[in-house]
Amino acid sequence: MHISSKELKPDIIIIGAGIIGLSIAYHILEADPKRSITILEKQKMLGMGSTGIGTGSIRHQFSSPLLRRLSLLSRDFFLNFQSTFNTPIEYLEKGGLMLADNEVLWNQLQLTVEAAETDGIPMKLLEQEELLRNFSYLNRDRFQGGTFCPWDAYADPYAVLAAVYAAVRQKGANVHFGREATKIILDGERIKGVETKQGTIWSPLIVNAVGPHAAQLAATAGIMLPVQPFRRQVYVCTNPIDVPPKTPLITDLATGFYLHQEVSAKTVLLGGTDQYTWPGFEEGVDKSVAEDFFTAAMEAIPSAIDIKWLRTYTGICEQTPDFLPIIGEAPGLNGFILANGFSGHGFMHAPAAGLIAADLILKGRTERIDLNSFQPDRFARFSLPES
Ligand SMILES: Cc1cc2nc3c(=O)[nH]c(=O)nc-3n(C[C@H](O)[C@H](O)[C@H](O)COP(=O)(O)OP(=O)(O)OC[C@H]3O[C@@H](n4cnc5c(N)ncnc54)[C@H](O)[C@@H]3O)c2cc1C
Repeated sequence: MHISSKELKPDIIIIGAGIIGLSIAYHILEADPKRSITILEKQKMLGMGSTGIGTGSIRHQFSSPLLRRLSLLSRDFFLNFQSTFNTPIEYLEKGGLMLADNEVLWNQLQLTVEAAETDGIPMKLLEQEELLRNFSYLNRDRFQGGTFCPWDAYADPYAVLAAVYAAVRQKGANVHFGREATKIILDGERIKGVETKQGTIWSPLIVNAVGPHAAQLAATAGIMLPVQPFRRQVYVCTNPIDVPPKTPLITDLATGFYLHQEVSAKTVLLGGTDQYTWPGFEEGVDKSVAEDFFTAAMEAIPSAIDIKWLRTYTGICEQTPDFLPIIGEAPGLNGFILANGFSGHGFMHAPAAGLIAADLILKGRTERIDLNSFQPDRFARFSLPES
């Protein structure tokens, strides 16, 4: 395959063609169509990383103001997706339900509702009686109350990824599949290029968007990045008999259990109880935790006792110690931009990540959000962010 000199010496190299890397490329080219971008993807096909396996939830209910801000910054992208990209993505605003079974969680939800209102996010507090009247399939003996946000939604992650990929190609970015970045090349405190088995590509600006592999790639540039990979299991089951179509995304805050009903309403994606697994890239299904998982499911929705477990699949999530992403230039290394550690929210926050990273690359700063809490060196500074 002929590779032009512009591809070998682009203005910007983005490593990783998941939703974060492609969103960054898209937003750079939207703002400045003249920038040349080469994207390197180690897999031979699109969607082989975390993005392709995600369950597609888009949430606005966060206790962290920073995560709420990322959701707000991303909202227009999803709302306008169909008209911008001319592609259906099964986008459905069916709302989200967060459930509390104790005083501490209930108080936390109350505070979140007040703060979300100030941000302009519609979030309603549901006392026990109203909760159970509206969602009669929930365990009557368990939940103290909950919150509902009508903006919470579902979209098909692979459909979004494929549409953004097509747009990025159409805008002129070169995407190389089967080309793994093996080493970041430095010139003192500056970025110079990236080595791949097929040869070196040179650029003074490189974006690390390799999802769960972020720490490994950063290490080749001598940067210690506290981003760890965690296995997440998803159970595909038949829909519980009394859970109606268009049911909101349900999250039980105490156990982490979630239910995402698929658009057909015949099956549900269940998961979330494996939030305390050890870090690692092991993707095999661990059947030993299924019992805990189904116990949590039945504690939230008693009719789950009769659901049929159809299959299980796993994916890897990338996580930072404070559950906030890292967005910014690597400390002491000019031109190495990090967009990592989205902790299970990378799909819903990819539009915001793309806008912010594009600002940093094109203008050297952003006014969309206070980036202090996302700085890569915050862990070394021991400054605990608000969340
Ligand atoms: C089971 C599961 C459910 C999830 N559900 C949701 C959800 O409902 N909502 C939500 O918002 N988020 C969800 N997430 C999280 C979300 O999927 C991720 O945060 C997001 O996809 C991260 O995108 P990314 O582009 O950073 O990573 P990826 O999609 O993993 O993309 C990174 C790419 O980099 C490539 N790569 C890696 N190393 C190299 C290298 N050295 N050189 C070149 N290429 C490289 C990989 O092959 C990959 O394609 C879920 C995750 C999992 C696992």
